[in-house]
Amino acid sequence: MEPLPQAQEPAAPFETHRVENQSPPFGPRDLWRDDAVLRDALARELSLLQPQPEPGSLEEGRQAIASYAVLAGGPALEWADDAHRDRPRLLSHDRFGHRIDRVAFHPAYHSLMDTAIRHGVAGWSWRHDHPGGHVVRAALSYLHHQVEPGTSCPLTMTHAAVPVLRRERALAQWAEKAAAPLYDPREVPVADKAGVTIGMGMTEKQGGSDVRANTTVATPLADGSGYRLVGHKWFLSAPMSDGFLMLAQAPGGLGCFLMPRVLEDGSKNAFRLIRLKDKLGDWSNASSEIELCGALAFPVGAEGRGVATILEMVMLTRLDCLLGGAAQMRMALARAIHHCRHRRAFGKRLLGQPLMTNVLADLAVEAEAALVLAMRIARAVDAAERDPAEAALARIGTAVGKYWVCRRAPAFVNEAQECLGGNGYIEESLMPRLYRQAPLNSIWEGSGNIQCLDVLRALQREPETGAAVWAELVAAGEGGSEYAQAIEHLRAALTEGAAVEPAQARRFVERLALALQASLLLRVGSPAAQGFCRSRLGGEHGLAMGTLPSGLPMDALIERALPAGLSTSG
Ligand SMILES: Cc1cc2nc3c(=O)[nH]c(=O)nc-3n(C[C@H](O)[C@H](O)[C@H](O)COP(=O)(O)OP(=O)(O)OC[C@H]3O[C@@H](n4cnc5c(N)ncnc54)[C@H](O)[C@@H]3O)c2cc1C
Repeated sequence: MEPLPQAQEPAAPFETHRVENQSPPFGPRDLWRDDAVLRDALARELSLLQPQPEPGSLEEGRQAIASYAVLAGGPALEWADDAHRDRPRLLSHDRFGHRIDRVAFHPAYHSLMDTAIRHGVAGWSWRHDHPGGHVVRAALSYLHHQVEPGTSCPLTMTHAAVPVLRRERALAQWAEKAAAPLYDPREVPVADKAGVTIGMGMTEKQGGSDVRANTTVATPLADGSGYRLVGHKWFLSAPMSDGFLMLAQAPGGLGCFLMPRVLEDGSKNAFRLIRLKDKLGDWSNASSEIELCGALAFPVGAEGRGVATILEMVMLTRLDCLLGGAAQMRMALARAIHHCRHRRAFGKRLLGQPLMTNVLADLAVEAEAALVLAMRIARAVDAAERDPAEAALARIGTAVGKYWVCRRAPAFVNEAQECLGGNGYIEESLMPRLYRQAPLNSIWEGSGNIQCLDVLRALQREPETGAAVWAELVAAGEGGSEYAQAIEHLRAALTEGAAVEPAQARRFVERLALALQASLLLRVGSPAAQGFCRSRLGGEHGLAMGTLPSGLPMDALIERALPAGLSTSG
């Protein structure tokens, strides 16, 4: 064929334009150095613990968080891209037709799990079983959720399983290895493992919130060595975990069981991965449907105590949902501020333009309120074993916080996304991934309505929970007229056992959450407190973000959220 004639070209034929007015890359960043709100919240909650943690352990905790923040804002951000883009694949059979029931992950998934577990995201609190352990782990979990929420699912479940496993002497090695700072993805029996991860199987086709509707049957073996499970689970995330805490109907009622994936002799336990869920988001995490064909399992607690056992773990998993919602807000906010600081429109930087400043300041107020609540509840969880009032606050605060912060996260992420304009709708900006992930923390571990009804149940059955919240609210003192009025609305239900109608549960829990957040912001003298109280309590706010009233230090709020002088950590 004749070659095409060469066009008469200028010297640089493909130079059509210069790339201008795009923001520089967001990372690598030091997520600890960037985040004054996190640093303040951590220092405050650790300082208020009773008894005080040893200075050495405080310093160890701070260093662990600071060093993980550099990894999370650096290589982990890149691994997260790969782990989400190349989604887990189900390998039901090998090439010869044998069932293998395995899920293949991108290597980045394993790097994320390995790094997180080595740095304590799953096990810090159990290896540092003294005051402060849960507060430090909460900060680690918050950092991890910002960067890679998919792996946060197995990390959270592994963390939450440890206390119930610890109580079963026969399962001591499971508890010990779930708390170990070692990730070992090999398919080998637990005895040969350096560390294990744990999943949870509660939800069945006919009921998730109502786990008493479970139909999976647990039949005791005649020799007393365990149970056989027959049935199914409609959602089972992280199916490559080493063991699963399963709910099943035993002769004495619904029980909780530990089901290993690999048996002692190295053979596969008798359950099948039917398919992986095709999910809205959470793509790095595999969530499966399974069938149980006589799988061997060991009791965790007595027959009939399954719900009680699961509820013990739920306080910890709900705390992580709350931290996860706060973390999604944080990452979305940081990206929005970063972009608006560099992008110009109509001849000026976006950040200086009054309406965009209002949007970003409003988001900053919301994100700070979410984090201070999450870290306060983390302290309550930390102190729960030593202090009944803190145990009561942890009991109710995890439900209140999970409901409200996770409810707010999707709308928050969407607002932050829009700050990036069209770029915020494009995968590389991370915003679409955050947006797809955002609704999930509200759905699992008890969906929104379930949390709200649980708050009413706690107030009715455990009046000490109302007293614990009231003590938090009055600790803020006068707090201004909006605050005084807001807590007055709550007084009867919290202190006198006045019943709230179930149909009003959402409105009530929302008020409770806002009052708790305001109380914390006021007590610490946060620059966000005035804006929070006027807008969220006093009604000087619209239904959308970017509707803060005038007269607030909006520039300072944005600067506090992401200081201008800090760019990359690399
Ligand atoms: C990606 C993903 C991963 C998951 N992974 C796991 C896992 O690993 N293990 C596991 O066990 N489960 C898992 N789940 C399941 C999850 O926990 C359940 O979907 C959730 O608890 C809700 O249960 P359900 O889907 O059966 O909905 P339902 O229980 O049918 O609830 C539907 C709606 O009704 C509301 N509702 C229920 N009862 C009431 C009431 N009395 N009054 C008012 N409203 C009510 C709920 O709040 C919800 O909004 C996962 C779910 C998802 C999406």
